[in-house]
Amino acid sequence: MDEKILWQTALAQIELELSKPIFQTFFKSTTIKSRTGTTIEIACPNTATKERIQSRHYSQVKSVLDQLTKIDNNIIFTVESILKPLDDLGPLFSSPPKESYREAVMTPSFSRDPKETGLYPQYTFDNFVVGPNNNLAFAVAQAIATSPGKVYNPFFLYAGVGLGKTHLIQAIGNQIFKSRQSLKVLYCTGETFTNELLESIYRSKQFREASTNFRKKFRNVDVLIIDDIQFIAGRETTQEEFYNTFNALYPAGKQIILASDRPPKEIARLEERLASRFSSGMIADMQAPDVDIKNAILRRKREVLGVQLPDEIIDFIAKTSPSNIRDLEGAFLQVIAFNQTQGGSVNLEQVKSLLGRNIGATEERVTPKRIINAVENFFNVKSSDLKGPCRKREFVIPRQIAMYLIKTLTDTPLMQIGDIIGGRDHTTIIHGSDKIQKELIENPKIQEDVRKIKTYLNLASA
Ligand code: ADP
Ligand code: MG
Repeated sequence: MDEKILWQTALAQIELELSKPIFQTFFKSTTIKSRTGTTIEIACPNTATKERIQSRHYSQVKSVLDQLTKIDNNIIFTVESILKPLDDLGPLFSSPPKESYREAVMTPSFSRDPKETGLYPQYTFDNFVVGPNNNLAFAVAQAIATSPGKVYNPFFLYAGVGLGKTHLIQAIGNQIFKSRQSLKVLYCTGETFTNELLESIYRSKQFREASTNFRKKFRNVDVLIIDDIQFIAGRETTQEEFYNTFNALYPAGKQIILASDRPPKEIARLEERLASRFSSGMIADMQAPDVDIKNAILRRKREVLGVQLPDEIIDFIAKTSPSNIRDLEGAFLQVIAFNQTQGGSVNLEQVKSLLGRNIGATEERVTPKRIINAVENFFNVKSSDLKGPCRKREFVIPRQIAMYLIKTLTDTPLMQIGDIIGGRDHTTIIHGSDKIQKELIENPKIQEDVRKIKTYLNLASA
């Protein structure tokens, strides 16, 4: 069997065993690089993909390949940048033409004024802190920046407010703008798209027809990034125009990147044809960061701003601020400003009273009790079952999700979590929480449930 066919056959089997996002993210742009004797070398587009396949899917890959070749193979993985995806595995649409991009060395035929891209230079991959809450989205974003239009198209990113959507999709745009001179990048929000469309219709005085200028602007790009795309839902003219824009760009191999506060199928009054196109490529989400990631974000911010602030104050802000990163930064900047008025000698007690007032007033803290209530309500299980000894799956999963959420969203000591959840040992809490952490990567149902419970916790606190 020739390598290409062998790998396609193997992928077809692997695809059946994995969730769509996992398969698309980690397998879609892999190839067999060489096959000599019993050694099969698999090329991955980046290190993250290689490590992920090696650590989590090795035995799956090996058993499928062994079965197909009927020998005991030695499988090795290498990183090989710029790989073309396998055409036959493309989603919904016909695959984009391969040579659709002019070479980066050519002089571009359009303005290279960064202002015209709608991008803010401060949003880069470099200052985006990566953790378990956003690493999948980050890996996808980087892959797109390396091969726009070729790997994940369209890319649909969703997350709650202030969790880094704008930052990440802008980072993709900035990276492409910097490294691929011949590609035209355009960023705007769903709201700007709508306003510009209405304005252009008004000016062209043609009933419900966008002007040529408008179309020139949005269809003459290689990378179109639309933030807060949920804004166009329920607006007929805008949806129609966006649908046409999408269909002008996508088949030509242009990269489309969309961000929203929820997944396509949950956007009310979004036309079905749009929802299905939004879902046809790669969908990734981001969750609220835990205390460690919040800490890392603030330390990075402190470094970027070049300000002095003691670690214990950073730790305090990370622990007591809401999980929303925008609010976390808000609290941080407030402390920095206060520190300046104090001549740089702010102490923890002052910060406590400064923030205590603000955070306490606006946000109800996420406590173990609220988490347990949310989990019980969500799964409709009784408290006695959630905390009790019964090992039925219908109780074990909610119980472990409660352990995971309390452990990651609050700083309750493990022993205490054990006490709260029916007097369990702290090792049981670690085991349960780790189990959910793993499932979050592999099991879309659990991913979804945890996301909904978190949303509920945020909403409940608003
Ligand atoms: P969203 O678009 O999801 O509402 P933003 O992208 O505007 O959120 O992020 C809010 C703020 O938090 C921005 O200042 C952004 O730079 C910062 N931020 C979000 N995620 C991260 C991250 N992972 N690392 C560093 N800063 C982040
Ligand atoms: Mg945003």
